[in-house]
Amino acid sequence: MSTNIDMTPSDFRKTGYQFIDWINDYISNLESYPVLPNVEPGDIKRSLPSSPPEQSEDFDKIISDLNNIIMPGVTHWNHPKFMAYFNSTSSSAGIFAELLSGAFNTNGMVWKSNPASTELEEVTLDWLRQMIGLPEDFWGIIYDLASSSSMHAIIAARENIEGYSIREKGFGGVKDMPRLRLYSSEQAHSSIDKGAILAGVGLEGIRKIPVDDQFRMIPSELERAIKEDRENGWLPFCVVATVGTTSTTSIDPVNEIAVITQKENLWLHVDAAHAGIAAIVPEMQKILKGSEHADSIVVNPHKWMFMPIDISVLFTKRKEILKRAFSLVPEYLKTDEDNEATNFMDYGIQLGRRFRALKLWFVIRYFGREGLIKIIREHLRLAQNLKTLIDGDPHFERLAPVPLSTICFHAVHPKFNDVESLNKFNKELMDRLNNTGEVFLSHTILNGIFTIRIVISGLRTEERHVNEVWDLIKSKYKEMI
Ligand SMILES: *Cc1c(COP(=O)(O)O)cnc(C)c1O
Repeated sequence: MSTNIDMTPSDFRKTGYQFIDWINDYISNLESYPVLPNVEPGDIKRSLPSSPPEQSEDFDKIISDLNNIIMPGVTHWNHPKFMAYFNSTSSSAGIFAELLSGAFNTNGMVWKSNPASTELEEVTLDWLRQMIGLPEDFWGIIYDLASSSSMHAIIAARENIEGYSIREKGFGGVKDMPRLRLYSSEQAHSSIDKGAILAGVGLEGIRKIPVDDQFRMIPSELERAIKEDRENGWLPFCVVATVGTTSTTSIDPVNEIAVITQKENLWLHVDAAHAGIAAIVPEMQKILKGSEHADSIVVNPHKWMFMPIDISVLFTKRKEILKRAFSLVPEYLKTDEDNEATNFMDYGIQLGRRFRALKLWFVIRYFGREGLIKIIREHLRLAQNLKTLIDGDPHFERLAPVPLSTICFHAVHPKFNDVESLNKFNKELMDRLNNTGEVFLSHTILNGIFTIRIVISGLRTEERHVNEVWDLIKSKYKEMI
């Protein structure tokens, strides 16, 4: 008897068409779904059997459960009025790439284990490098998430410290050496702190540099902090600048920071996870000004480049340091091509690697550079329009500049004369908006003020969606006042 009980080719075809139809219907009818599901913790678990099935189940039954149990609990990131966090929307080209990646099911740990994925990654990352205007001396690698990309950068920065052989000795073995210090702004993403934890730097080893009134790192404060730390026996080794912070998309003055890192001989990592992709638009390439001096920079195609999560890219000029930090080649992974070809396993903690470059290849080719520029440019325009509307309405107040397509604001009213009641009102306003199922917005806190964020970066978000959201915000406000 054959042990292969996978679908027959004709069943695969039938089920496959069914799924393509399903996805097509889903994408075409996105707006008929509530952006946020109306479920309580535990609701979905309770509808699923607690033990696995003994017998084979029919796919019709599986699809029916998908519709009845899973769908009511799904948050629709592809929805045109998903404007929370930083969006990640998938285009058709991206969906096809994921499908194919699953079908190939290759593992690109070394060149030999899949030459096509290795070389396609090298080529498409060089395309992306050109598209965002980074110089030729940047080399790229795909990781799953920006959290991984930044962690790898921070560990490479640690490896780069002269005479500090943590890779060999571990922290216990270098116990008489000074403690390491990493710098980022108060507005940096928590993934930088996690990277520092993983690099053994410790939370105490992170020094948060104050920001100006536009939430950008103050270079003179960085300079002062480094000097003070050196005097007090710390060993500064890395500075993380952010281009497009998570709360407000503020842009640290990378150029000025780079002058300091070069003078102080520190690794400069730029976190441009969300905003970096906007540099595809020629008039926006200025946001990466100064990044040409960085040692590494992360951008996430899965955020603003219309491909399914996950795909993050780390560009670095210090490929050899990254390799020195991570390469470890056991006998069973040695190949004849080790000297001529790239083995991506040498540049990170993961051995196995999915065929993620297909997403870049399909999406860049399907839209073309012009197509991508057009979509992102429109997002930027819509954000400026909304900014103008908010600025013109006395019931609302903007709380940060809008350098990209994220708008930070809150509602105001003379009856709220203390921050606490104002914050409470705005939290309630946001919750009520989200409870309508019409929109999903998220928040941050800026200088103690509860701030509602609107992020316009979804592939399917058009002017009418932004207008509908703005109308909804105004009408909920009126209802509550
Ligand atoms: C989204 C984001 C991250 C984290 O991204 P993941 O890919 O989810 O790890 C880090 N930094 C910035 C600035 C971000 O916008």
